[in-house]
Amino acid sequence: MPTSPRPEWTAVRAQFPAMTQDVSGHPLVYLDSAATSQKPRVVLDALAKYYERDNANVHRGIHELSRRATIAYEEARAKLASFIGAADPSELVWTRGTTEAINLVASSWGLDTLKEGDEVLLSSMEHHSNIVPWQLVAHRTGARLRYIEMDDQGRLVLDDLSELLTERTRLVAVTHISNALGTVNPVREITEHAKKVGALVLVDGAQAVPHRRVDVQELGCDFYAFSGHKMCGPTGSGALWARRELLESMPPYHGGGEMIRIVGRDSSTWAEIPHKFEAGTPNIAGAITLGVAADFLDEVGFDAIAEHEREVLAYALQRLDDLGGVTVYGPTDLDERSGVISFTMGDAHPHDISTILDSRGVAIRAGHHCAQLVMKHFGISATARASFYLYNSTDDVDRLVEGLASVQEIFGPG
Ligand code: PLP
Repeated sequence: MPTSPRPEWTAVRAQFPAMTQDVSGHPLVYLDSAATSQKPRVVLDALAKYYERDNANVHRGIHELSRRATIAYEEARAKLASFIGAADPSELVWTRGTTEAINLVASSWGLDTLKEGDEVLLSSMEHHSNIVPWQLVAHRTGARLRYIEMDDQGRLVLDDLSELLTERTRLVAVTHISNALGTVNPVREITEHAKKVGALVLVDGAQAVPHRRVDVQELGCDFYAFSGHKMCGPTGSGALWARRELLESMPPYHGGGEMIRIVGRDSSTWAEIPHKFEAGTPNIAGAITLGVAADFLDEVGFDAIAEHEREVLAYALQRLDDLGGVTVYGPTDLDERSGVISFTMGDAHPHDISTILDSRGVAIRAGHHCAQLVMKHFGISATARASFYLYNSTDDVDRLVEGLASVQEIFGPG
């Protein structure tokens, strides 16, 4: 088991300027990447370069800067489409992130398709952004929401699928990886079951795309949503991927400029996909620099990233176990979890744990992580959550554990 970071990962970390600062008089240990990741120098430089040289609106300008911006914007779309294994760049709609991508499907496909008696199958480990949009649509259409439950390790109970999936199921919407537990769900298997009853499958990929090679065609899903800011890209960037025939059949979600073909007094016709879903001036800089982030991750390589994160995760789980008094939620098998550790420590409130760690320069998250159904399942109101990414090391784990030891000094051993 490693006790000091490998030089190649020290070099990766050095490319993230935010990671080199002191916080509360200590070198920063950033363990909140499941909330948002830090950004490498290449992404920050690309953002500055875009605004310094190429800034213009896309698609409609007949001048050099608009040409440059449009080319870079559409090249980034093609890059991100191939990054997630999509066959066709026009199947990738830019959004502000996962939340907007799921709302797009719920409002467009959901309101247009669902009716009384139809069912949408979610899971009880979903982030609120894959629950609330469906509740809003269910209230308006009369559709019913059902849930795949979890076991005591926070794994989906797939044995129930044959009972839950019926000819009334129109959509299964599940997360690829849980932000609150780190559980990696068997999406391919879920998709195969869903297809047997003719249901579509939406996957929330917010916690997956930053950490592993995703191939939407291999997964066999119909919709895939992800956020740029969790994968080294800028905030306000992200995308929805969907099968061409679905996007073509779905009505627009927002109305405005860019998404139309012809506008009349009483009605309009729509632009081709994906533009039909991209009303108004998009986050041009966000899309372009998300392309740079994808290149960066490709260059480091997902095999290497996954191996590194697993090493850090295994080391962290072992050290927490050695410390004692820490309850870790989620699967015990490393093959079934990603680099997220949700935990509680006796009577110490997660907010107090986080505050004490913060005073030592260690940034974690505390709360329900927008997953209140997960908290309810485990009979708790909140957890502390440390989440790892490619720039973290076993040294960071040591600093986390030192901080937790001081939490135990204050609150008792738990
Ligand atoms: N789904 C999951 C699993 C998440 O972890 C998050 C963010 O934490 C979201 C959805 C929402 O992502 P965003 O806020 O980028 O739209």
